[in-house]
Amino acid sequence: MSFTFTDDQRQLADSIARFLADKYGFEQRNKIRKGDGGWSREIWAEFAALGWLALPIAEEHGGLGGTTVDLALMMEQFGKALVVEPFVATIVLGAEIVAKADPARAAEILPQVAAGEHLLAFAHSEPNSRYDLPRVSTMATQGDEGWILDGHKAVVLHGDSADTLIVSARTGGRDDERDGITLFLVPGDAEGLTKKTYPTIDGMRGADLEFDGVRVGPDAVLGEMGHALDIVEGVADRACVALAAEGVGAMQATVDLTTDYLKTRTQFGKPLGSFQVLQHRAVDMLSETRFAHALCYRTAGLMDTVGGVERARAASIIKAEIGRAGKMVGEEAVQLHGGMGMTDEMAVGHYFKRLRLIDVTFGNAGHHLSRIVGMA
Ligand SMILES: Cc1cc2nc3c(=O)[nH]c(=O)nc-3n(C[C@H](O)[C@H](O)[C@H](O)COP(=O)(O)OP(=O)(O)OC[C@H]3O[C@@H](n4cnc5c(N)ncnc54)[C@H](O)[C@@H]3O)c2cc1C
Repeated sequence: MSFTFTDDQRQLADSIARFLADKYGFEQRNKIRKGDGGWSREIWAEFAALGWLALPIAEEHGGLGGTTVDLALMMEQFGKALVVEPFVATIVLGAEIVAKADPARAAEILPQVAAGEHLLAFAHSEPNSRYDLPRVSTMATQGDEGWILDGHKAVVLHGDSADTLIVSARTGGRDDERDGITLFLVPGDAEGLTKKTYPTIDGMRGADLEFDGVRVGPDAVLGEMGHALDIVEGVADRACVALAAEGVGAMQATVDLTTDYLKTRTQFGKPLGSFQVLQHRAVDMLSETRFAHALCYRTAGLMDTVGGVERARAASIIKAEIGRAGKMVGEEAVQLHGGMGMTDEMAVGHYFKRLRLIDVTFGNAGHHLSRIVGMA
């Protein structure tokens, strides 16, 4: 399984790596995550100035038209640095949904997103939906001047800072039916919207949102009425690949930290790494990471060319693999670090936490294995 990057792609990855090494070391990242809002608006503005927010957005919507492979390269570097800014919420999910659902609205909204001036979040999962994308109970009923939203969305990634929430709600159908789901653009400060916000265990931000008679105008409808699920599924599949690339970056950083530790930590008068049994464990971690890397980029290459079941199967295979391999690499790293790996001061535990959360975002390994079986 081989994959060749272009010179431009290599340069892109190098320039992101250099920027993050300079401005986003572990200490700086911790300061950012513990600060106001849990992420840095200054860093976000720099991402925008460097063109990184525009890169995955199509040219006709004010972006640079990058491919899913370009996006994966960026996410891999973000994974290595444990970036906590709202890139997944705003760009991977928000911008992609707007682009796919409504090209006219995309031309209006996405240039502001690319410029770093507008933040999005995707409010879809609900307390009872788990990983089941069609399970939407939030209701949208027609009022005199638009729509009224009632319902509850759970763990909305960066839902606390979004200027605009993209909210899925039922305009028809039963709770788990494919048809009848419609997307709405809702201002982050809408009347009747209550947000319970919190840091997630991996240092990101989440919010539980309650919609209690939230009124929006007729122009809040994004895309076709009642047919949002195909779009949601396509965007979720691509997000699985982006998250897998982030996981690959986190796994590689975990392997690097662990091999450094084994080389420098001495026990019984020798470096730990001189014990062959520990070398074998480090090699297993590295080979898991290399395999996940190759599979991730192969899948990223497919994402822009295939659709339907083929796209869904490819996304589920890499997501299942990253969940399994990320857990193995994270657990081994903590074990090989001894008790130190459990402490907040060491980066290794933070990578492990992010890897565990990557697994449960848009379906864990078990869910995606079942999905693959269901497609056979
Ligand atoms: C937050 C925290 C909680 C803890 N909780 C517990 C607890 O509940 N119970 C408890 O008993 N201890 C606990 N400890 C102590 C912990 O078990 C020790 O730290 C542990 O023995 C690892 O030692 P170390 O940190 O010196 O790691 P190191 O000595 O650096 O060892 C790193 C890794 O190498 C392995 N290793 C070392 N030497 C060899 C060798 N010669 N051959 C093969 N493998 C080797 C170790 O097993 C470990 O996997 C805790 C420590 C912390 C910081």
